[in-house]
Amino acid sequence: MAQKNMDISVGMRYNRESERGMNRMSRKETRTIRIGDRVIGGGNPILIQSMCNTKTEDAAATTAQILRLEAAGCDIIRVAVPTMEAAAAIQEIKKRIHIPLVADIHFDYKLAIAAMECGADKIRINPGNIGSREKVEAVVDKAREMEIPIRVGVNSGSLEKTLIEKYGGVTAEGLVESALDKVHMIEKMGYGNLVISIKSSDVMMCVKAHELIAKKTDYPLHVGITEAGTVASGNIKSAVGLGIMLHEGIGDTIRVSLTGDPLEEVKSAKLILKTLGLRQGGIEVVSCPTCGRTRIDLIGLANQVENMAAEFDHLNIKVAVMGCAVNGPGEAREADLGVAGGDGEGLLFKKGQIIRKMPEGELLGALREELERMSGNAQTRYMGSCRHG
Ligand code: SF4
Repeated sequence: MAQKNMDISVGMRYNRESERGMNRMSRKETRTIRIGDRVIGGGNPILIQSMCNTKTEDAAATTAQILRLEAAGCDIIRVAVPTMEAAAAIQEIKKRIHIPLVADIHFDYKLAIAAMECGADKIRINPGNIGSREKVEAVVDKAREMEIPIRVGVNSGSLEKTLIEKYGGVTAEGLVESALDKVHMIEKMGYGNLVISIKSSDVMMCVKAHELIAKKTDYPLHVGITEAGTVASGNIKSAVGLGIMLHEGIGDTIRVSLTGDPLEEVKSAKLILKTLGLRQGGIEVVSCPTCGRTRIDLIGLANQVENMAAEFDHLNIKVAVMGCAVNGPGEAREADLGVAGGDGEGLLFKKGQIIRKMPEGELLGALREELERMSGNAQTRYMGSCRHG
């Protein structure tokens, strides 16, 4: 079924972007799929995924990493299941985490069945490497019995030779055909509780493949740029690729793939969604690029402010960190709060108005005090409006 566009207001409350009408984005209409206690598709908020890089067999280490990712805003977590021991560890891990868990399976259908029996909320398979139709059917039967969704994933690195020959290489068209072939195979087995993912490290090929498949199916799409690289280059590739797709209304759940700490994936995914007005909340830190007028350690201060801002995720404000008093407050007039550097000192300002001057070393603490005050006010306002006290 071809997808239709629908205008969806994202989020329960409006933020600055929504006030300017920026987050009313036309999103592709997809069917709703439940993953544990979360829902994707059907215009629901786009959920953030990441993948553990611990050994799944080590339930303690994997649980600890998932709890860290949960705290950072991860909505759904995926773990690799290369062994029966890893499948069994899911049972332990699930007891202590609070977000749905996806089991990532390659080659062995018995691992997929074991992962579901041990509590996986979703499985990710590439039916092409699971083997015979009977083996895929055994996985589908178990998923149907347990009402567990299957993410059908295809990857440019494992595109079938027949499709490479048909399209003269690895192409977006070939990736789409490969994904739809697998989806149709599972549909013929009588199962439609599916999510589709198409991954390519070629950003524009990946974008084209998603544009093509979004016109041909209404299954929710898990979008991301695979093998995007290290934190620096991967963030840029992911922001460009995901930015285009999400802006076109494509994507129901996202993963930023980085060679690094999965925590960085979650932070980047959140920022991409916030930048597009698809998620709200949290402090937006703006900082100047520094120039010959800068007389304080602005780079260090901006990084410290950004780290501190993560503690105040419940505030929905903009904080500016500017290098000089000449342009700082003026350039950051729209900021709710900010600092502007001088020569070994700095100004604290609110909404462009200077509040007080202080030595450079006190700027971070002063910002924290203000954030805590705003945080307290926000809490009081919330309590005042909450009928349950
Ligand atoms: S705010 Fe001041 S220090 Fe920062 S780039 Fe602008 S002029 Fe330079």
